Amino acid sequence: MVLVKPDGVRRNLVGEVISRIERKGYSISALKMMNADRAMLERHYAEHASKPFFEPLVEFMLSGSIVAMIAEGNRVIEGFRLLAGATDPTVAAPGTIRGDLGCDQGTEAVQNIVHGSDSVESANREIEIFFGGSIGSGTVERNT
Ligand code: UDP
Ligand code: MG
Repeated sequence: MVLVKPDGVRRNLVGEVISRIERKGYSISALKMMNADRAMLERHYAEHASKPFFEPLVEFMLSGSIVAMIAEGNRVIEGFRLLAGATDPTVAAPGTIRGDLGCDQGTEAVQNIVHGSDSVESANREIEIFFGGSIGSGTVERNT
């Protein structure tokens, strides 16, 4: 499960992120633009609930639209994490999404354009949060 975070959407990098995923050889099997709500984000980032950056992170993720997508392919979780690069965009390697497209904004929450699930278990949990039962339902959701 990949998210383009609000900084990536604001900077019109949705296509760039999708393009890098597709050019690598993965397929996008679900995609939606949405405004997350606090409950979803608190579930999504539950592992960080005790960290000092948790509240700023939730606020950042509430600051604009996000794009949620499911990328598929052999070893895609490992592969996308490598495409994304290190969490801190300052030190993320050039050639990665975060390394090429991000830099330190001096904000309490690190703005780094994308999220990628770190395990199959996380991916399944996160897909439930962001897509619920909506995959393949035929429902068209339009961002407002
Ligand atoms: N984050 C932050 N400060 C930190 C570490 C993380 O603001 O010191 C934010 C950052 O946006 C990161 C997210 O919290 O992407 C989740 O952190 P994690 O360590 O899981 O990094 P990721 O898996 O996204 O690379
Ligand atoms: Mg993480």
